[in-house]
This record gives sequence, C-alpha cells and structure tokens, in this order.
Amino acid sequence: MSEFNLIKRYFTWNSRSANIVKGVGDDAAVLDISSDKSLVTSVDTSIAGVHFPLGTPAFDVGRKSLAVNLSDIAAMGATPKWFTLALTLPSIDKPENIEWLEGFSQGLKQQAEQSGCDLIGGDTTQGNLSITIQIMGVVDKGTALLRSGASVGDLIYVTGTLGDAAVGLATIINGLKMESLADVDYCQKRLNTPTARILEGQFIKQFATSCIDISDGFLQDLGHILKASQVGACINTQKIPFSNALSSMSKSVAIQAALSGGDDYELLFTVPKSSNAEFLKIASFKTSCVGEINTSLNTITDEKGDLLNAAGYNHFNV
Ligand code: ADP
Ligand code: MG
Repeated sequence: MSEFNLIKRYFTWNSRSANIVKGVGDDAAVLDISSDKSLVTSVDTSIAGVHFPLGTPAFDVGRKSLAVNLSDIAAMGATPKWFTLALTLPSIDKPENIEWLEGFSQGLKQQAEQSGCDLIGGDTTQGNLSITIQIMGVVDKGTALLRSGASVGDLIYVTGTLGDAAVGLATIINGLKMESLADVDYCQKRLNTPTARILEGQFIKQFATSCIDISDGFLQDLGHILKASQVGACINTQKIPFSNALSSMSKSVAIQAALSGGDDYELLFTVPKSSNAEFLKIASFKTSCVGEINTSLNTITDEKGDLLNAAGYNHFNV
C-alpha cells in the first residue's frame, strides 16, 4: 500500500463542519474562519536520515524544518503567520546535544523571522530525533490556490530550477561527482536550505488555476494536480529549467533528477492561455513553461508522446 492509498483508506473522512473549504488532499487545509479570511494549515514531520541526511548542520535542519511547511503555505497562495513545534530529542545530556539545539533553534528562528511567522507553542519529548511543525497562515476568502482547478489547455509552469536538491543528495549519499566543488556546494545548499516561494505563490494566485509545491518530485506532484483536476499533461523535457550546476552534468542525469528527485520546494502551477501574456509581462521571478494540460486522464507524456513514469518519493513504497 502506498502512502497515498493509506491516507485515502484510513484518514479521508467525510467532513462534518461546513467551514472546511478543503480538508485532506491538498498542500494545506483551508478553513473559513471569518467573513473575509480563511485559515490555511498544514503539518510536516522531518526525521533524521529520511528528510535530511545524518550529519546535516543543525542550523540548516532548523531552517529546513520550517521551510518545508512554509512551502505548503506558499502553494496555497497564503501568508504564513504562526507555527507550533513538536520536538523529539534522543538526549540532552552531552555537550554535542546542547550544541545541536543551539544551532537548530537559531536556524529555525532565522527562518521564522525572515518569513514573518511566529512560534506559538509546541511539545518536547524524548525519543529518536524528529521535528514536527504545524503551520498556520491566512488567505482572503475564496482565493486559496488548490490542486483541483487545472483545465485542458492550461499551460504548466514551474518556478526556479529543478533537480538541484536531488543531485545535492546524491553527492552526499551516493558519492555522485560534479564538475566543480562550487557546483556540489550549490546543490547541497539547495538540499539543506530550500527557499519557500511565498511571494511567488501570492503573486500567481491572480492567474493560476491550480498549484502544488514540488516536494516529492515534479512528476509525482504533477500527478497530484492531474488527479485532483481530472486531466492529463504533456511535458516538453527540453523546457525544464536547470541551474548552471545541473547544466554542466549529463543531460539524462539532470532530467532524471528534475523529473523524479524530491526536495525542490519550487511551485508547480497552471495558467490559462488567455492570461499567459499578462502573467509573463508582470511576473518578476524566474518561471518556466514546461508543458500543457490535456485530456489524457492521469497520464503524463513527453514531447515525443512517450509516457513519463511518475516515480517520486513515496514513504512505504519507494
Ligand atoms: P505535502 O507533500 O503537500 O505535505 P502529503 O503528500 O504529505 O502533502 O499529504 C497529502 C494529503 O494528505 C495532505 O492533504 C495531508 O494533509 C493529508 N494527510 C497526510 N497524512 C495524513 C493523515 N495521517 N491523516 C489525515 N490526512 C493526512
Ligand atoms: Mg505540498
């Protein structure tokens, strides 16, 4: 059973409350809490050795633990406001444990300050290292970006560049070699200190019909938009945006990392053709059109018409 089937089978219940605009099945839940605002909330856990390699600097772990949550808020086009922290630590007896806590808390604090998000509570327990953050944000009522709004003919866009984090991870755990140490450093930074695209999410809200953040690999996350919107997609692999570091690698390795590698935390969204010219005219950040939505239900093909297999990261069924 995959992670997604498990959630569907055991934890997708009929909602009883009328103010749940979106429950299970999007990057965050959307709850109508006042006449003009919705609360947007999501929770993510980071486990040592799964979500960050053992040995990742504590400061980076602190930053990333919040960044991955901010990314889900960004994907809804919302503004992050508050978070709670449930921290499980193996021990606080040794000097290295205290040093880790110092670094972690400073990284977390820096990310919180930069994103205007306040720590408002949490829970502290002993056990294997695990960090859970519940984030809350707000969005004007009726304007949250969902996975479910893509229509046939919409153009598929991504922010930034894809595949850097997956290559960074491969340099750490598989000994992948790159042209230069600067390239290795760049990709490892993209892995360890991702940037949530908060302002981009708020901007694209006026154009986009659907949106998701790419956390588990482009194809798998595009698959979530296709499923929620009941459509298919054609991707032009020649249009995938690469950083300079990935451009100097073998094309096939770079494409594999971009299509299936996790941890990019870029936004993947759809824009109707009728708004495309206006969108491109005023978008002030790097964004690339990589394909188009079509009628081939839950199917992704490339520019030659070949099927692209949506193998991304999936807990329990990797
Ligand atoms: P993301 O990658 O955006 O963080 P996930 O893939 O982790 O999203 O989760 C997919 C959806 O399933 C989300 O809407 C999430 O809230 C929901 N979900 C995940 N695990 C559970 C669970 N144990 N109980 C209820 N809902 C869950
Ligand atoms: Mg997400």
